[in-house]
Amino acid sequence: GATRFTDKVVLITGATSGIGRAAAIRFAREGAMVGFCGRREELGREVEREIKAEGGEATYIRADVREAAEVKAFVDRIAGKYGGLDACFNNAGITVQKPLHEYTEDEWDDVVGTDLRGAFLSLKYEIPHLVERGGGVVLVTSSTVGISASGGQSAYAAAKAGVLGMVKSASLDYAADGIRINALLPGTTNTDFVRGTAGALDLPDAVWDTMAKTWAKSNVPGMRRMATADEVAAFAVTLTSTDFPFLTGSQLSLAG
Ligand code: NDP
Repeated sequence: GATRFTDKVVLITGATSGIGRAAAIRFAREGAMVGFCGRREELGREVEREIKAEGGEATYIRADVREAAEVKAFVDRIAGKYGGLDACFNNAGITVQKPLHEYTEDEWDDVVGTDLRGAFLSLKYEIPHLVERGGGVVLVTSSTVGISASGGQSAYAAAKAGVLGMVKSASLDYAADGIRINALLPGTTNTDFVRGTAGALDLPDAVWDTMAKTWAKSNVPGMRRMATADEVAAFAVTLTSTDFPFLTGSQLSLAG
């Protein structure tokens, strides 16, 4: 298989499940030393074990991207353990589904604090390590909701649109340092994230699986199903590689 990340250090936020987890496994299969975080320790340890069981290298550290001190400690510990950073996938995210006036202030702060401030804190503490390395790549997970209308997603849409602005501006700040920063915009993807948003429906697993495979509302034109986490992860890994050395400040969308 491809080994674009042999001897490379890759850091991922939010890899205890979904797209991040699938990416961690893919990065490790391509030879990376993977450092990742998330709040659910049991799942983090499980992903770490799974990668090691197939001969890969990974370190899970519990960190909440809303907490600056935890983000800094996570990033510094991974860079310290593996001798620097080469690529980062800032992917942690949550949402709350409800009309705007029903959001509590805490819910708004939680979504924006995770999806936008969390992405800022991750980038802030990664940059010095990438500068020290003489360059690197960062991919930040935005969403198609950051550029198109989606009902009940006002906090999320604000945060994910904010991510796009941050990425474009920061890509200029660090271009001279050889650091490329891009945004990934997944369309609807079959993960806990979407299950949670549709959680009020409380669907049995079998019904959900059928829905995921046949969903006519998919925002990926013509596909009539959601993407799988692994399909999105495959794109994320390529975008975080050096396959496209001219790509920076860009928005890569997986949907229409
Ligand atoms: P998941 O819920 O499976 O993954 C989200 C990941 O983010 C988990 O690993 C979760 O870990 C982590 N996370 C959430 N909050 C925090 C926090 N405060 N600190 C650290 N980690 C955190 O869903 P997806 O894989 O779908 O989501 C990944 C990204 O993709 C998100 O940014 C999401 O917004 C985005 N996205 C998803 C789409 C979809 O349709 N699924 C569409 C477009 C974008 P833990 O809970 O253990 O902390």
